Amino acid sequence: MNAPLVRPLTVYRPGDNELSRRLQAAVQGDVLFDRASRGRYSTDASIYQVEPIGVLIPRSHDDVRAAVDICRELGAPMLPRGGGSSQCGQTVGAALVIDASKHLREIVAFDRDAMTVTVEPGITLDALNAWLKPHGVWFPVDVSTSAQATLGGMAGNNSCGSRSIAYGNMVHNVLAADALLADGTEVRLGAEARIGDAPPRLRGLMDGLRAIADRERDEIVRQVPKVMRRVGGYNLDAFHPQSERPYTADGGVNYAHLLVGSEGTLAWTRTLTLKLAPLPKHKTLGVVSFPTLYKAMELTKHIVALRPAAVELVDRTMIELARSNPAFRPIIDGALVGEPDAILLVEFIGEDAETPRRTLDDLVALMGDLGLPGQVVRMTDANEQKALWEVRKAGLNIMMSMKGDGKPVSFIEDCAVPLEHLADYVDRLTQVFAKHGTRGTWYAHASVGTLHVRPILDMRRDGAAKMRAIAEEASAMVREYKGAYSGEHGDGLVRTEWVAWQFGARLTRAFEEVKALFDPDGLMNPGKIVRGTKMDDARLFRYPPGYAPVKLDTALDWSAWDVHADPVTDTVTAPGTGGDPAKGFAKAIEMCNNNGHCRKFDAGTMCPSFRVTRDEEHVTRGRANTLRLAVSGQLGPDFASEAVREALELCVSCKGCRRDCPTGVDMAKMKIEFAFHWQKRHGLSLKDKLVAYMPKWAPWAARFPFIVNLRDALPGAARLSERIAGLSAKRTLPQWRNDTFLSSRAALAANADRPEVVLLVDTFNNYHEPENAHAALRVLQAAGYRVAVARAGANDAERSRPLCCGRTYLGAGLVDEAKREARRMVEALSPHVAAGATVVGLEPSCLLALRDEFLVMGLGDAAQRLSTRALMIEEFLAREQRAGRLKLPLKALPQKRALVHGHCHQKAFDVLNPAVAVLKLIPGLQVEVIESSCCGMAGSFGYEAAHYDVSMKMAELTLLPAVRAAGDDTVIVADGTSCRHQIADGTRAGRPREALHVVRVLASALDPAAQEIRVSAAS
Ligand SMILES: Cc1cc2nc3c(=O)[nH]c(=O)nc-3n(C[C@H](O)[C@H](O)[C@H](O)COP(=O)(O)OP(=O)(O)OC[C@H]3O[C@@H](n4cnc5c(N)ncnc54)[C@H](O)[C@@H]3O)c2cc1C
Ligand code: SF4
Ligand code: SF4
Repeated sequence: MNAPLVRPLTVYRPGDNELSRRLQAAVQGDVLFDRASRGRYSTDASIYQVEPIGVLIPRSHDDVRAAVDICRELGAPMLPRGGGSSQCGQTVGAALVIDASKHLREIVAFDRDAMTVTVEPGITLDALNAWLKPHGVWFPVDVSTSAQATLGGMAGNNSCGSRSIAYGNMVHNVLAADALLADGTEVRLGAEARIGDAPPRLRGLMDGLRAIADRERDEIVRQVPKVMRRVGGYNLDAFHPQSERPYTADGGVNYAHLLVGSEGTLAWTRTLTLKLAPLPKHKTLGVVSFPTLYKAMELTKHIVALRPAAVELVDRTMIELARSNPAFRPIIDGALVGEPDAILLVEFIGEDAETPRRTLDDLVALMGDLGLPGQVVRMTDANEQKALWEVRKAGLNIMMSMKGDGKPVSFIEDCAVPLEHLADYVDRLTQVFAKHGTRGTWYAHASVGTLHVRPILDMRRDGAAKMRAIAEEASAMVREYKGAYSGEHGDGLVRTEWVAWQFGARLTRAFEEVKALFDPDGLMNPGKIVRGTKMDDARLFRYPPGYAPVKLDTALDWSAWDVHADPVTDTVTAPGTGGDPAKGFAKAIEMCNNNGHCRKFDAGTMCPSFRVTRDEEHVTRGRANTLRLAVSGQLGPDFASEAVREALELCVSCKGCRRDCPTGVDMAKMKIEFAFHWQKRHGLSLKDKLVAYMPKWAPWAARFPFIVNLRDALPGAARLSERIAGLSAKRTLPQWRNDTFLSSRAALAANADRPEVVLLVDTFNNYHEPENAHAALRVLQAAGYRVAVARAGANDAERSRPLCCGRTYLGAGLVDEAKREARRMVEALSPHVAAGATVVGLEPSCLLALRDEFLVMGLGDAAQRLSTRALMIEEFLAREQRAGRLKLPLKALPQKRALVHGHCHQKAFDVLNPAVAVLKLIPGLQVEVIESSCCGMAGSFGYEAAHYDVSMKMAELTLLPAVRAAGDDTVIVADGTSCRHQIADGTRAGRPREALHVVRVLASALDPAAQEIRVSAAS
């Protein structure tokens, strides 16, 4: 009687040749069966890692259909995937992973009157809502991962957003689905009333499902939790609804709802038809400060009675973590009253402005009645609200920024309990954590009783045992309170074993029957929802006991990551004491928790190469995973392998991730470390050597510029340079000049005694664009500062050679050479720093190296001190202006508008705002920032023939279109040498545009030189 309903599978070997061969012959999309690609798809945002057989990136639905047919014939399992941001392990498995997120993201149909949209599964929620916005509607299941979550994945997980109290979960918002069954049948699932004459396979499926549901009706009533946030098991209660919120408007059955929450175990979803909502016209936000977390939870039920659209919790730990992030600090501080233990974000929406304002007043009054007068911060400004929501959305990511082996682990993170028990649940579970020597941070959806909490566990040591013990106690509470064990994130690998616990033996058996009706051969995502493994099966862990990185002698200092952190007291041991055989490099890599936040396209820099390729290999997560696998020997014995080189190839070292990744994964620095190991093992190409050693040969090039510049003057020379050195013939190269800045009279004269400002002129501005350095000197002198130009120190063996930050060496992994340059710089500038001078620079990637890479090169305290006094020129000027010391006689320019493109490093170090601030000092100039990511040139990257196309695609995303659209009344501003070159190159074919360094614009506005924006050689 209890024989398995789903036939046992043929066991498939990872990387199976026959499957890969047949797929390659049949599909147009990418077939990825190499070890590194499989490795990159072996994880999601859970604690698990299971190697897939291979990966298919289908170009079209035909590809999916072909793959399903081939898999069926070969008995190979399949695993549909979107953004791979699932937390429970539902997106990992020994199967052919089919990733819809790259190509299958069309909007198939839109009916504004009917308020419906039909989409392919790979479109992200943000992309869909951006498209819908001009129509005044949105899809309101607003998950925190809206930038990377695909609609296919959201349906697969029955996802829920912050505003689910107003709009429901996915299941409440899916109207129909086209699906492909594992047997090759295409079916349209939707409202029963609309299906009419169904073909036999569909009719059989529907009848079978109804028969199971009717037979189990009493059991459904008995076992299915009555809360809205219940996403475990299959939605058999579509037939006999148990949710607080109706599934359908007319009370009828919708068969698509069986697919929702099925985690890819029943069918491939080809399209989804979704119910839309009008965009809320007006919103207000009340932020209530509470003296204790308990109080916040106790009073939530009263707040919910005001019918808000969202009530979201942020606890003390999260408040502190947010405060430690410079971007979030002012936002969170502005939302607090005093020093609360917890805050609730309470949102009200309305068609008219008055309604949400009134309910916000009601909230203020209610809190007064409940003994908390004056504890509400009222936010009516949309931007203010948005900024605070961003902090809340980043909640989990902020929490994951914890260093050391102990990490917050998701397994009871989304239990849902009725509101009247919320305070007791939180209190008791906190005690359970303490009993097991850990703690958790509480946040998220208070309105619906789904609080997120992750105890900190070390899965390499005793984490699995503690996970089991805590899960047992938490589940007992959930049962006592009649809640749902899986209230948001699904079952996957971590909770499939709990399905029987939650729904009982009969419904578990019924779920197996549901699976068998859809997928009798058990080909779709096996081991999830039915017939799963144990949550603590260590063979499936990403960091199983015994996991160890290989020994590595690192070039950079990673010791800050090599620490142990105490989960209870939060104390962190000294740098270098964490026991990492890779000296902290492995632990820095492991900071990536796989949440996929880098798969984004919104404002911010991260991650330019993903934006243009949409490849998992070329996103920060994919790179971190590749490095993690390599540094732990899972890609073979050689760390400096081709697989890692390929994954890092398109990383433009923009440092976008350093800032935008919530856990601070700094791929640019990791690339330097890898490049060091690579060049040691494999040597360098001619092109790499040419670029790297540029500071050495630059003085010679400046002596004979007419020879070096022949490359762009002589017919055929550019093509030759492409063949010999790999420099793209489609590019012009920066022109060498013999009127260098450092050899000019103005620079030689700028030698003030006890200077207040030391002007650091980099290789590029000195040799290629000396007018920028002249402009800087003029601006500083016009403002009345005593200026000296930075030159090599008296004891420098190469005294006549200009100082250099060593960036070109770092790019090639020549860390020792870079250290030599850095040491020269530190020695030369230290006396100035000791005398209190500020070092100002022009080129972001050079100057900011003093504040970043110099600190991990073992250069000691002198480098530390220098880093605190090294500023971009605009930072210096803006600081002086704020202090009321800046006296710069600026006049209006003929141009009325400045359009600013920020260099990636400027953005990564928050130096773009000062550039905007100083430009705004020019009377009448309207300053706007282009919402651009990397320009695509990125040092030498875009000059290389192999990268030309990607480089141009990056530029064409937003930068070049914005520049082209700018009128003649607009001056284009870009501080990066390569950014300026990209702008010139990219507009050469049409209306050529020149971008200027911010100091050139300032210098042009100086009295009496105003009116002349095109400053040529300035002295
Ligand atoms: C930091 C963080 C915050 C999160 N916040 C939320 C939140 O606020 N609310 C929430 O509900 N979840 C949240 N999640 C979980 C997760 O992001 C969501 O469930 C999201 O909707 C998953 O989308 P995805 O595209 O990444 O799906 P994936 O993880 O790729 O897939 C999810 C499931 O859907 C299946 N699937 C994907 N495509 C198809 C298809 N075409 N056909 C059939 N099945 C398919 C997969 O097999 C898998 O089982 C969060 C996760 C993280 C890491
Ligand atoms: S690199 Fe950062 S943003 Fe990307 S998945 Fe890893 S932790 Fe998340
Ligand atoms: S440095 Fe830039 S390109 Fe490289 S991974 Fe980070 S965001 Fe992506």
